[in-house]
Amino acid sequence: MLTLNLDLPNLPGAACVGAPPELWHPAPRDVTEYTPTAKAICGTCPVRQACLDHAMSAEAAHPTDRHGIYGGMTAEQRTDLGRPPADTCRNGHPRTDENTTIVASTGRRRCRTCKKANARANRERARAREETAA
Ligand code: SF4
Ligand SMILES: [Zn+2]
Repeated sequence: MLTLNLDLPNLPGAACVGAPPELWHPAPRDVTEYTPTAKAICGTCPVRQACLDHAMSAEAAHPTDRHGIYGGMTAEQRTDLGRPPADTCRNGHPRTDENTTIVASTGRRRCRTCKKANARANRERARAREETAA
């Protein structure tokens, strides 16, 4: 596991001081339960940006070694944040702010045009099934 140089619970003013450290480093079976609590505490943290910046720069040197929540972001979200934004989705639609939404649970960007096309295709499949059944 990557050990960040920053001793986060001892960072002056850190909101996680005194909270159970396992909230930020949950065992796999506890991820779903603990992550929202850790993120909520990070959301009130006055040193959140410094924490995130530190994690991002430490992890940039070890991209495959990301664990835990820092600066209110999961390892997966920090991976996305560190990735240069692609100009288009895999179907070639622009990845602009207008054409994407951020999925709250994962922090990933989703293409709105693809989402609409998928919904339309699902409706058409459902209609075709109904017509076949009728
Ligand atoms: S952002 Fe979260 S993990 Fe980082 S110091 Fe603040 S409470 Fe702790
Ligand atoms: Zn798309």
